[in-house]
Amino acid sequence: MAKKFQNFINGKWVDAQSGRTFENRNPANWDEIVGVFPRSDKQDVDNAVKAAREAFEKWRLVPAPKRGDILRRVGDIMVARKEELARQMTQEMGKVLAETRGDVQEGIDTAYYAASEGRRLFGHTVPSELPNKFNMAIRVPIGVAGVVTPWNFPMAIPTWKIFPALLCGNTVVFKPASDTPASATSLVEILMESGVPEGVVNIVHGGGGEVGMAIVGHPDVDLISFTGSTTVGKKISELASQTLKRVSLELGGKNAQLVMDDGDLKLALDGVLWGAFGTTGQRCTATSRLILHEKIHDEFLSMLTDRVAKLKLGDGLKNGVDVGPCVNEGQRKTVQSYVEIGLQQGARIAVGGEIPKDPELAKGWFYKPTIFTDVKPDHRIAKEEIFGPVLSVIKVKSLEEGIRILNDTIYGLSSSVYTRNVNGAFQAIRDIKAGITYINAPTIGAEAHMPFGGVKQTGNGHREGGWTVYDFFSEWKTVYIDYSGGLQRAQIDNY
Ligand code: NAP
Ligand code: MG
Repeated sequence: MAKKFQNFINGKWVDAQSGRTFENRNPANWDEIVGVFPRSDKQDVDNAVKAAREAFEKWRLVPAPKRGDILRRVGDIMVARKEELARQMTQEMGKVLAETRGDVQEGIDTAYYAASEGRRLFGHTVPSELPNKFNMAIRVPIGVAGVVTPWNFPMAIPTWKIFPALLCGNTVVFKPASDTPASATSLVEILMESGVPEGVVNIVHGGGGEVGMAIVGHPDVDLISFTGSTTVGKKISELASQTLKRVSLELGGKNAQLVMDDGDLKLALDGVLWGAFGTTGQRCTATSRLILHEKIHDEFLSMLTDRVAKLKLGDGLKNGVDVGPCVNEGQRKTVQSYVEIGLQQGARIAVGGEIPKDPELAKGWFYKPTIFTDVKPDHRIAKEEIFGPVLSVIKVKSLEEGIRILNDTIYGLSSSVYTRNVNGAFQAIRDIKAGITYINAPTIGAEAHMPFGGVKQTGNGHREGGWTVYDFFSEWKTVYIDYSGGLQRAQIDNY
């Protein structure tokens, strides 16, 4: 019997009001059911929002350092349960254990950062233009935060959102991706065990169209923090505008690694392997284009295809496996269809380009790590997010051309340049249009205490991570205290 999971609303584990359910399966072995989850709808969302609204009135009054203490305990429990959480995540979404361990660690880092932020949450004091008057701007909680997350970082992304939301004094209604509901449930259990009061965090499982949209459209939800595709992000932005909610969108990417002729090729090789095929290419920051200077193009490509052909596909729980499966059938079909599009448009497959025939992999959504060469900047595989183990290689003649092609997409999340030329590196930092630029490091590798997010259609200008996320989850209140004992009119009495 598959394990049965529930929603968590107002401190109680409950089924969907409708009684409906859905299954989640292991992408490395689709015979294995991870669990059965409530297929919730608007009624369940209404209950969760009501609970969160009521809980907000108490939670907002808990001193921020005390809220931080709870989050420190969350971090401690995550440390103790790291291995178990990582295994559950791998079973649920397929990436290899080393990576799911890293995903949990990012959550731990985020918890400890939030804990310490409880003793900061700095505001500003500013001199008044009038005598005997005191001005300050302080941070206040906003209310109910709707949190909608993808499956590719089942722990890190929910923690990036939920921990700062809570630390700032908001309450949360959380809808995780349908592909990773068990990992999300573990996170909620840990929050409860750490002392988060009833109603402060609620989880509602179910589909994006039903549960996600119900949260986004709910008049009593004050803000939405969403990570996912650009297509869904646009729908959310539209619906949320009807109630003028605050919305943070972290969306798609088409990230590139540029390798110059003066770069360290061995280093760049390790970088692109990790950037393109880590998490089976299913990261928002995955390297999906490799832009090579013509002088090193052939040499680098032959080094790369050699290594890619040796990557071991398999169940991410097994030792020695480099690349896990795609997360589900739909994702693998998308990959397949882009491989066909690439061929039709004239690119050539250097390695991969097919579903593996190995009988051991027959029951998983595996796809061979794939490299396309002879890719032109206007090919669809050079422009559109594929979200799978497919790398498009483009040849350029100069740094300027490389940067121009790197920028030639609707997205702007991450970017990477390998060069030993300090002038070229700084030129790239100046001219690349992306939220994140790495020099001599791959496109993936965000640290929890740094701002994270992208430009153009990757987002709407907010940043998660670091100190910047606290701006999203708190409201500025401006306060004037006049202790002159008389009416003082700004701009009038003093001029
Ligand atoms: P997705 O299909 O957009 O789904 C993301 C979340 O939104 C899931 O919880 C999904 O629920 C929900 N959802 C789907 N349709 C919805 C709707 N109409 N209204 C409200 N919520 C809805 O994305 P994904 O396939 O899970 O993740 C891959 C995408 O996320 C890629 O584009 C990737 O680049 C992006 N991503 C971005 C970042 C970043 O920080 N910029 C990080 C990671 C991933 P269901 O699971 O139930 O469908
Ligand atoms: Mg699954």
